[in-house]
Amino acid sequence: LPQPTQLQFIPLGGLGEFGANVMVYRWGADCLVVDAGLMFPGEEHHGVDVVLPDLSFLDACGELHGVVLTHGHEDHVGALPYLIARHDVPVYASPYTLGLVRSRLGEHDLPRSQDLRALDGGPRRLGPFTVEGFPVTHSIPQSRLLVVRTPAGTVVHTADYKLDPGPDRRESTDVERLARLGREGVDVLLGDSTNADRPGRTPSEASVAAAIEPLVADAPGRVIVSTFSSHVERIRNLGHIAARHGRKLALVGASLERHAEVAERLGLLSLPAGSRALPDEVETLAPDRLLIVAAGSQAEPMSALSRIALGRHRQVRLEPQDRVIHSARVIPGSEKSIGRTINNLLRRGAEVITAADAPVHVSGHASRDELHEMIVRLQPRYLLPIHGEYRQLLAHARLAAEAGLDRSRVLLADSGDVVALGDAGLAIVDRVHVGHVFLDATFDEVDRAVLRDRRRLADDGVVVPVVAVHRESGAVNGYPRIMARGFVPIGEDGDADLLTEARRVVVESLDEATSEERRDEALLRARIQSELRRFLRRRTRRSPLVVPVILEL
Ligand SMILES: [Zn+2]
Ligand SMILES: [Zn+2]
Repeated sequence: LPQPTQLQFIPLGGLGEFGANVMVYRWGADCLVVDAGLMFPGEEHHGVDVVLPDLSFLDACGELHGVVLTHGHEDHVGALPYLIARHDVPVYASPYTLGLVRSRLGEHDLPRSQDLRALDGGPRRLGPFTVEGFPVTHSIPQSRLLVVRTPAGTVVHTADYKLDPGPDRRESTDVERLARLGREGVDVLLGDSTNADRPGRTPSEASVAAAIEPLVADAPGRVIVSTFSSHVERIRNLGHIAARHGRKLALVGASLERHAEVAERLGLLSLPAGSRALPDEVETLAPDRLLIVAAGSQAEPMSALSRIALGRHRQVRLEPQDRVIHSARVIPGSEKSIGRTINNLLRRGAEVITAADAPVHVSGHASRDELHEMIVRLQPRYLLPIHGEYRQLLAHARLAAEAGLDRSRVLLADSGDVVALGDAGLAIVDRVHVGHVFLDATFDEVDRAVLRDRRRLADDGVVVPVVAVHRESGAVNGYPRIMARGFVPIGEDGDADLLTEARRVVVESLDEATSEERRDEALLRARIQSELRRFLRRRTRRSPLVVPVILEL
């Protein structure tokens, strides 16, 4: 394959799907990776805890000069341990992101001495690419917009951002700086599309604090706030609110503690002296002296919030006077577990306030008017919408037209497309292999076939035909038996005697088998499996897992 001499963008995830953001930049034989994220499994992924993008393309990419991480959210850094286990490359990021990566690498038994480098403090040269990180406002500390200067021109990679200025100007999106970049000339904008279908502007984080404060002021008992563990700014605001109302801030949950530890080390969680509850004070302080931040805003099964709701938390016992504030969005796929947890909280007599009752949560992503402003300020020649399902990417493309960017200058691409910047603009010139790798809680890979079996088991149960065959003669001994679990053996026509008929199907398939097939267990199993599966599907419209058992006599 001739090496291209144009600038290429190769998304290995994150386009046409939510999460697993990975973007490869390629110039000739030189490559750079921006972000290495994971995605969370859907309901159909039984027993899967983590979905990783398939990164095998990187083996063939040429020389990999480094991985640049825009920020520390899992959909941008979660696949990093798997990437650096295979590719020994330096990782560049802001101090907070590096802090999270360092603690994560320890969990994966990867050397903490991994080559982690500062992104901040000026342009970094990575092969033919020069990368500079600018602060942007987001829902985790120190998110970085990237300016990537290449032989083919200047690229702005927005990362996740919004334009709202946060409390610390140095860590907020600087729109004047964006305008300056625009005047210098931006060739391609890779823009976050997550909220491209939301009108207006995303409200500021200060509005969340303003909505929560009165709910703390008049609470008769404990206040428990559940939010994303990485949302350090919100947690700091909660600490200040607690202090103003005679309460102490307690953080419960391992992920919260991990984020707080990194944030404290970097001076990002500065709180009034004495405003944090000591570990035993969670139990000993009067309820109206506590503001508890609980991990598990998506009601993850073992999380602090889920345990509190079930009355199983070691330290926090809910009482009827307590008030629970769900200060988070509901990530698609978590609706049911969050609903269940809220029901459990209400059953224990607590009052529950969600974003549907009061403005206790805002998104960390720019809405339509901000995406519009980003395009107006940067004046890019081309736009490649990133981060989103097709509808968000399309919405971003449409609003770009309103911002004055001709439709011919916007490219809608999918994960796996090779996008090249050529004389005629941005175009898809090739495809590479992309896909997903499924992992369970022990970080072992869950094979696609295993997942398919689990789905069959969950939906339609299992049918086990048991056949005894003489090893030497291949003769079938006796009549086959059929066991079924979780399978309703009733035909579409109401025929309740389906399993008797199914036994006949097995007998027939055995009769028609050659003696070679009968002596070869694998062949015999495959034959029985396919015949029985076809019969059951035809008669019941169901596809249970069929597991033939051959007993050799
Ligand atoms: Zn993201
Ligand atoms: Zn993010």
